[in-house]
Amino acid sequence: MNYNSVSELRAFLEKQGLGMRKKYGQNFLINPAVRWALIDALEAEPDAEIWEIGPGLGAMTGQLLEKGFPVRAFEIDPGFARVLRELFGSRPNFTLIEGDVMKTWPSQPAAQYLLGNLPYNIAAALIADMVEKKRLFRRMVLTVQREVAFRMAARPGSADYSSFSVLCSSAYKVIPLMIIRGASFYPRPNVDSQGLKLELRKDIPGACPAIFYPLVRSLFASRRKMIKNNLRNFIFSVIIKKGRAAPNIGQTAEDIAGEALARSRLKGDERAENLGLEAFVSLAEAVEDLSSGRFE
Ligand code: SAM
Repeated sequence: MNYNSVSELRAFLEKQGLGMRKKYGQNFLINPAVRWALIDALEAEPDAEIWEIGPGLGAMTGQLLEKGFPVRAFEIDPGFARVLRELFGSRPNFTLIEGDVMKTWPSQPAAQYLLGNLPYNIAAALIADMVEKKRLFRRMVLTVQREVAFRMAARPGSADYSSFSVLCSSAYKVIPLMIIRGASFYPRPNVDSQGLKLELRKDIPGACPAIFYPLVRSLFASRRKMIKNNLRNFIFSVIIKKGRAAPNIGQTAEDIAGEALARSRLKGDERAENLGLEAFVSLAEAVEDLSSGRFE
């Protein structure tokens, strides 16, 4: 199949009785140079399995198999899944996981590399879910809407900096690749996309995920407010309400928040939008130390 020709793709879809579904964020990457550049950016060693999220009709899947990589492909559209089985089903290196990747990925064996021209509606949720559940890849190469890419790569103090930026930076170094214009896709989307490389950090913070991620989200809940109020509310719900206050520290949420801030060398009048990863990690570790019992 010629994956680079809109007319041939249309004819193929019609012959197969298939349509493009907006609800699944279906936009095929019809620019072969961009597809190869994304695959090359994975820098995967031969024989390493690649997870491909949303293979569509298999444009990149075919290129990956051609290069000799085993591929585990996650596709929700039953019509596309049928085509993928017909095209690649007989290859021992090809595994198709049909269904919603948000539900199917947790039961699959871990891999080192992930490639995905991600459907816009699940991109952020999928990345966040995998990071929070510590399913980490050595390298991920993704295509996302530019606005999502800005949020992922944002640094403290910038307008795009959010709890999602902190989450991404807690596990990965986010490296922007090329901008991918709408004309590289069929159907053509209204917004540009961005290729991104996510390299696993060598120094992943050891903070307890069950405290760290909820804490970051709650400190960003009102991003322009001083962190001391959000921190106190967080401590009230995760420590005081659950009876986890350590006996040697004052018993109020205010006391514990004050102690956690002091241990993190923060005053409390800072705003989440200006704090770097280290400050969030330090606060999460202090909150854990100041509690009794386990967080799951
Ligand atoms: N990889 C193809 C390409 O680059 O031409 C298609 C990319 S298209 C942007 C997104 C793909 O993800 C579609 O094939 C779509 O059906 C699939 N998809 C959307 N939501 C999904 C989900 N929740 N789980 C698995 N696949 C999904």
